Amino acid sequence: MKWENNRRSDNVEDRRGASGGGGLGGRSIGLGTVVVALVAGWVFGINPLTILGLLSGADIGPAATQQAPAGAPPANDRQAQFVSTVLADTEDVWTRLFKEQGSTYAVPRLVLFRGATPTACGQGQSAMGPFYCPLDQRVYIDLAFYDTLRQQLGAPGDFAQAYVIAHEVGHHVQNLLGVLPRVEQLKRGAAPADANRLSVRVELQADCLAGVWAQKARSNFQLEPADIEEALNAASRIGDDTLQKQGQGHVVPESFTHGTSAQRVRWFSTGYERGTLAACDTFDSPI
Ligand SMILES: [Zn+2]
Repeated sequence: MKWENNRRSDNVEDRRGASGGGGLGGRSIGLGTVVVALVAGWVFGINPLTILGLLSGADIGPAATQQAPAGAPPANDRQAQFVSTVLADTEDVWTRLFKEQGSTYAVPRLVLFRGATPTACGQGQSAMGPFYCPLDQRVYIDLAFYDTLRQQLGAPGDFAQAYVIAHEVGHHVQNLLGVLPRVEQLKRGAAPADANRLSVRVELQADCLAGVWAQKARSNFQLEPADIEEALNAASRIGDDTLQKQGQGHVVPESFTHGTSAQRVRWFSTGYERGTLAACDTFDSPI
């Protein structure tokens, strides 16, 4: 995988200076402030941290001021720059694919954070792993997850890391297509096992969309079969059955929310081989 000379995205927000060790800024900010900031951010559609800065005056520390106004990661931060080139490529690919369907792709933002950060979906925590918040259309990632991916989960490689971003961007695509709101509605009032089954289809679709992106990204990143192997291995390592076996020694299928290793590998492969949105209908096909 070659990425160093590829375009970087302007849509990366670096909040790593603003939130150290699970706290929220150089000076402690009461939970009340955070809640007020989140509500206002939701209503006005602005980055909650900007408001957080306004409410606390200039006192949330020099680190927090560094993120304003653009908050782009430093140019010498290799890992952040890597994430930024992957995000840029997803922007190009999904803009093109949406255009082909006669619609417009609204690009998401990607937030780098450490420990914890406020989001429109509530407080984001590193322990949750990378996630997407549909309410603020942002992908959140603590880059320490990549160490976990490599060391604890056994999925090394830069394309494994790219797959993680592409999967989260896949959730953004689902949001724009109206899949996420529809599923949220279906989940309301559903029995827990049924809600989990819906989650699995959402997650497998995000894997498939990551595969679609990977096919389109092949030439731009000079991908080789070994790169695709890294993504497939990652998909396999984070299957619910594999994680449950590793964590608790046994498997509880009705608690699955992301799909088995085999399913995740299969849907990434399907997207990668077929390269179309239509290939990713995980709701009307056997999974
Ligand atoms: Zn997901």
